[in-house]
Amino acid sequence: MSEATFQEGSVFGQVMKSEHEQVVFCYDKATGLKAIIAVHNTVLGPAAGGTRMWMYKNEAEALNDVLRLSRGMTLKNSVAGINLGGGKAIIIGNSRTDKSEALFRSFGKYVNSLSGKYITAEDVGIGPADMEYVSMETDYVSGLPESMGGGGDPSPVTAYGVYLGMKASAKKAYGSDSLEGKKVSVQGVGHVGAYLVEQLTKENAQVFVADINEDNLKAVSDKFGATVVDKDKIYDLDVDIYAPCALGATVNDDTLGRLKCDIIAGAANNQLKDENIHADACKQKNIIYAPDFLINSGGIINVYYEIIKNYNRERAFAHTEKIYDTTAELLKKADEENINTHEAAIRIALKRIEDMGRLKTTF
Ligand code: NAD
Repeated sequence: MSEATFQEGSVFGQVMKSEHEQVVFCYDKATGLKAIIAVHNTVLGPAAGGTRMWMYKNEAEALNDVLRLSRGMTLKNSVAGINLGGGKAIIIGNSRTDKSEALFRSFGKYVNSLSGKYITAEDVGIGPADMEYVSMETDYVSGLPESMGGGGDPSPVTAYGVYLGMKASAKKAYGSDSLEGKKVSVQGVGHVGAYLVEQLTKENAQVFVADINEDNLKAVSDKFGATVVDKDKIYDLDVDIYAPCALGATVNDDTLGRLKCDIIAGAANNQLKDENIHADACKQKNIIYAPDFLINSGGIINVYYEIIKNYNRERAFAHTEKIYDTTAELLKKADEENINTHEAAIRIALKRIEDMGRLKTTF
């Protein structure tokens, strides 16, 4: 059957376009489970990526999300230099009202049916208690709390990677990677943001913080002396570096008209509102955009060391240090090939998959 048989937007049309290996639709009448597991690419290793629970408007939106997110995991895991492929799962439902032990154990059985090709973890709408149910039906669960033999909170490792990505970007922008005296605005001082502020303060950067959570703001300003700013004014500050650590899509037409920074480097996922437009827009404005999926990969690196057993945090931190060199490499590549930094990171990720895939063809 020719590829043209499948129309754009049809299920197979979408799967073929994004080059997924396998997409599993999971339906369990008794528990009401409606989930999709998307295995994008397993050349580097088992497909790893979290499960998101979300009240999608319709099936098309759910499918689109899981395909997009799982492809993103392939790129993130590859550029992070870990031996994991890309996958993701979504459960369609309201995370406040539709959860039950039976639902998550039913989902766990579907994960288990893939025999390790997909390894799940928490994502938006899913908490440790839910994953505990999933883990009753399958061993292919990661990112578990230390009390369950897992690696625990990945946020310090993630923040460390963001900090190193920021330093490598500073080296490119200023000729030195020192952040001493640099003005850095941190949007969102939750788990990752607070650890990042700690690193920045240790290096005597001048830190500005904004958050919608007053308790989190007070905690970081009391502890580290960071200056609190209005959440709506954060894009207008005269700073050297903007670190988005709260929401996605904050690099967009509006904010790029307001940001005065030289560098954007933060933890938030999907910072570019439209990757096809706003990575180029940063380049045109001479802003160094440190690709989010590289510099926030400390979290998945932490999970990787849990997956390969004998977890130890030192190894996770040591591997995360490579983010500095990879950031420097991609900034150089972006210059040499006259492409934006997001594209350069994607090319590095795809090249690694290609190279390792070739290795597999011989014994
Ligand atoms: P978190 O929920 O602990 O912290 C997010 C913070 O952002 C909260 O304090 C929240 O109040 C604040 N916030 C929400 N909306 C805001 C707004 N409009 N303006 C300012 N602040 C706002 O989350 P986290 O674990 O610290 O993760 C932060 C980001 O990094 C998320 O986008 C997450 O997906 C991403 N990320 C986290 C990890 C990790 O290891 N935790 C790994 C990779 C990526």
